[in-house]
Amino acid sequence: MAVSLESNFPGGNGLLLSSSANAQKVQVRFAAECKNCPQAMWFYFRLSGLGGRAVRAVLANPEQTLGGPNWSQNRPVARRLAEGAWGPWGRLGLPEAVASQGRVEWAWQLPPAQQVEIAFCYPYIPCDLDATLNELGDAFSSCFIGLSAQNQPLVRLFNRAARKDRPAVYLTARHHAGETPGSWVLDGLLRSVAQDPQLGELTWWAVPFVDLDNVLAGSYGKDPYPHDCNRSYGLDGPRRPEASAVWADVLRLRENAGPMLLIDLHAPSHYEQAVYVPRRGWDADAPVNPMAEDFANRYNALQDKDIRSPLAHILPDPPSHNHGRQAGLSICRWAMENRIDAVTIETSYQGNAQKAYEVDDYRRLGIALARAAAEWLGEKK
Ligand SMILES: [Zn+2]
Repeated sequence: MAVSLESNFPGGNGLLLSSSANAQKVQVRFAAECKNCPQAMWFYFRLSGLGGRAVRAVLANPEQTLGGPNWSQNRPVARRLAEGAWGPWGRLGLPEAVASQGRVEWAWQLPPAQQVEIAFCYPYIPCDLDATLNELGDAFSSCFIGLSAQNQPLVRLFNRAARKDRPAVYLTARHHAGETPGSWVLDGLLRSVAQDPQLGELTWWAVPFVDLDNVLAGSYGKDPYPHDCNRSYGLDGPRRPEASAVWADVLRLRENAGPMLLIDLHAPSHYEQAVYVPRRGWDADAPVNPMAEDFANRYNALQDKDIRSPLAHILPDPPSHNHGRQAGLSICRWAMENRIDAVTIETSYQGNAQKAYEVDDYRRLGIALARAAAEWLGEKK
């Protein structure tokens, strides 16, 4: 049976460049697909026909990923098919550098299997959210807030209707489709809100997949054609339908709730081993967010010690990023312009340099984030 690479499923990304095999081992050389973006990053694919052999998987295009060619500290995730069922996802070891004509590619080793799935970080697609919501019973309802560019219904979760006498949190994840750590943090936050009556007193609204089209297409979703979702909140109007839906919904909450906080969940460059709040955007002329440092320090202090980030916030030096040449604003900057307190949070794909994050670690960060938001709003009342 020939070795094959498949990525034509929701969230799938990965192109087989070449493969070779002997009786003990299969080698696959793959690329993270750029799809509709100038940079690649996200990959998630299935290898079949392995015949119980070990696998050496080689990432061939690290230069095209956000963060550059040095993947020496990156540990993607994988799971094996065993007796007809997928086992749990787990981190691979550190990669080996493979020199090739002045370039470097990166190779990870996987134990023997029939079929494996490999991803840059723990995947999170709509069926993962559905599984969590099923576990949480009637804690959250969902409502339609608009259509994506490709006519997919965009959904917002809520634990209760807004009321003027209740503080409220508006959460967004996956403005950049491949940034799955933000989704796992949101997953943990939803669980803690469902289980902690004190947190449940607040109004929590969340859009779990803003760039749903690119989530399903398996695109990294940073600067995708025609516009980056998180640079689509122009002062003179939204530049993407996803932004117009979230825009109207955020203003709806502001009109109907008490003190309000907006939290936009992201993930940074591939190698960064921290969870932090940027105190301003990366776009040119981005103003410093006056509340970001205070909120970041609270969130950091509430993180369990073993997963605590080595830093709580950074001050980007604009214009240090190609986003600076796009006309639109991020949701965080747009919220600030609309007198809504807002923070962006970057959550590492890797860990905190002491511990490689697992799914439960991301969820524990979500618990800390829920508490930080409640604490911060509690002092605003
Ligand atoms: Zn992002």
